[in-house]
Amino acid sequence: MSLERENGAGRMRTVVTKSPEETVEFAAELAASLKGGDLIALVGDLGAGKTMFVKGLAKGLGVKDPQYVNSASFVVMKEYRGEKDLYHFDIYRLDSAGFSETVDYEKYFYGGGVTAVEWADRITELLPEEYLEVRVEYGEGDERKLTLRPVGKRFEDAGV
Ligand code: ADP
Ligand code: MG
Repeated sequence: MSLERENGAGRMRTVVTKSPEETVEFAAELAASLKGGDLIALVGDLGAGKTMFVKGLAKGLGVKDPQYVNSASFVVMKEYRGEKDLYHFDIYRLDSAGFSETVDYEKYFYGGGVTAVEWADRITELLPEEYLEVRVEYGEGDERKLTLRPVGKRFEDAGV
């Protein structure tokens, strides 16, 4: 796994993982620095590794069986109990109008647990002022590039 700070942008961080396990471990470590009410906005193509990243968050948050974290796209939201709870959203089948009509999302986005949203770019206008965007992109073979972009003071300060 390699990690570097992007020149100029300063606050953006890029991480390259070489296996699903590395993505899980990276996300699990990141989860340790998260607080209740934090939101991770996951962006990237189908099969890139967004759900894998959420498994890692679950692991890091102390969810008992993180391997059971899987696609939430049919149910829109799944809630997992951990040391900190995890609210896992998947917007794949919805746009922001459909999403805001279907789900009482504010209760979660501003709730006591950590929120992870797959396909967060479909509901950009509904995201809170502060969140951490994680973009997952394909590389060669099992390589994936994770780009972390803090939005708002909370994540810039936290350096996560
Ligand atoms: P998404 O939720 O973005 O649609 P998933 O997390 O469900 O994607 O699937 C990612 C797929 O890519 C899994 O089959 C996983 O095993 C595979 N994969 C291969 N290399 C990696 C990697 N470095 N990080 C994450 N997933 C990887
Ligand atoms: Mg997914």
